[in-house]
Amino acid sequence: MKSNAKLHALMKGPLSPLYFCIGDPIVGNPTEHMVEAAFASLDYNGRYLTCNVNAGDLGGAMWGLRSLQFAGGNVTAPHKMRVLEYLDELSEAAMLIGAVNCITRRKDGTYYGDNTDGKGFLEALLEKAGSVENKKVVILGSGGAAGAISAELVLAKAGEVVLVNRTQERALSLAKRLTGISSTKVSVQPWQGTYEIDSDAEVVVQATSVGLFSPSRCVDVQFGKRNNALFACDVVFNPVQTLFLKRAQDAGCIAIDGLGMLVNQGALAVRSWTGEDPDRLAMREALDEAFLCE
Ligand code: NDP
Repeated sequence: MKSNAKLHALMKGPLSPLYFCIGDPIVGNPTEHMVEAAFASLDYNGRYLTCNVNAGDLGGAMWGLRSLQFAGGNVTAPHKMRVLEYLDELSEAAMLIGAVNCITRRKDGTYYGDNTDGKGFLEALLEKAGSVENKKVVILGSGGAAGAISAELVLAKAGEVVLVNRTQERALSLAKRLTGISSTKVSVQPWQGTYEIDSDAEVVVQATSVGLFSPSRCVDVQFGKRNNALFACDVVFNPVQTLFLKRAQDAGCIAIDGLGMLVNQGALAVRSWTGEDPDRLAMREALDEAFLCE
């Protein structure tokens, strides 16, 4: 059925819409398999390609993708920030964060950049926590993922966002960009030695790269005594069960893994490209399948 649609597109047109995922390194990124499952769930004949693009070739690659009339795609490290200069329009979140992970070609051929990482995270958190309004959220890290998440928390009017990063200047610069956007209070705390999570925090987000591909590594934090329930989220999705989440669960926290964020940001990208919501369960199953291959 699906292959007939592809054949029909090839012989009678219009040609199948093309999508890309660019980054370096890109081998090991399971997005293509997840997005193909999303397309299949919609019976959509889009074709998705994973391409390794070196930092020095980003400009050429972007002009090439435009000329080949790619309908959109995903951008991953190290291009999320530099790609902005090759786009025609940006979402509010992308402008705030200064990074794009999802590009959609508009009807007039222009490229629109958005950042679905933070939105994907927020959807995963809201599923369990209900709301972030008036909640105090501690973010560990101040890189791309932390920036995307904290921007969405500010746009969703969280009570307070506390940025904690090994390099404090980076946290201060992010806090400066996010202050005054909404009623959310944005503050910075130093991270020297072991960081003890504030007892009145209701959410903590592990948004550093510590633990990625390393089940035995964890950021230097202590959960301490708590006044309330604490949702502990990790952006790292490989391994799914990180040491941070295990420690959080041992301390009585409610754990939220990084796979929900990964599926949600991908589903939001697919919606931006097709106008339809793909089957997120099928996307999650595709990821499980990809990780089994490792
Ligand atoms: P960046 O390189 O932009 O930022 C890395 C962050 O980790 C910085 O804050 C850095 O601190 C911190 N860090 C690195 N090493 C240490 C350490 N030893 N101790 C304390 N802090 C440390 O990366 P990204 O923000 O783009 O990615 C972070 C993670 O998020 C990755 O694991 C990535 O796979 C994951 N991710 C998950 C997504 C999902 O859908 N689940 C989506 C996007 C990303 P400093 O500033 O001091 O260097």
